[in-house]
Amino acid sequence: MRSTEVLTWKNRCAMYSGFFIDRSDHFNSCEATMKPNIKWEPLLNAAREARKMAYAPYSGFPVGAALIGERGKIYTGCNVENSSYGLTVCAERVALYKAVSEGETQPKAIVVVADTEKSLSLCGACRQVLAEFNTEILVLAANTKGVKTVTTLSQLLPEPFGKKSME
Ligand SMILES: [Zn+2]
Repeated sequence: MRSTEVLTWKNRCAMYSGFFIDRSDHFNSCEATMKPNIKWEPLLNAAREARKMAYAPYSGFPVGAALIGERGKIYTGCNVENSSYGLTVCAERVALYKAVSEGETQPKAIVVVADTEKSLSLCGACRQVLAEFNTEILVLAANTKGVKTVTTLSQLLPEPFGKKSME
């Protein structure tokens, strides 16, 4: 097993601070007790494929995302840049907007893939937009070398602005 296949479950798994994604005994025991059952490989493959569609002529940094919700359908996204840079949209938001536009407002998990040294970190805008629909969505960030990190949005964005913020 290559060291690049290490998957860490940040601060969430009481028993394992780090484990391998293909050690399904560990992974599934965590899945069973701590989070909804997510089949990561189809999501990872979908995100990798979506990355190939990235429109990133300015950054040269293609990103792919794949999201799954309650209905079980996978929605993909890639970053779509614009010559007016501020109009650029990240892959995560494209995937989420596609899901919501098709009636999926209960996202369970999202995978994000990019060619980074470590697994990708989601930008603040995407964290906030995801939090609108599920503050506990599972986030698996991966690079193209196989490094994967699973966490929850509530860990990435502990105090999101939301409906309750306006009460
Ligand atoms: Zn983003």
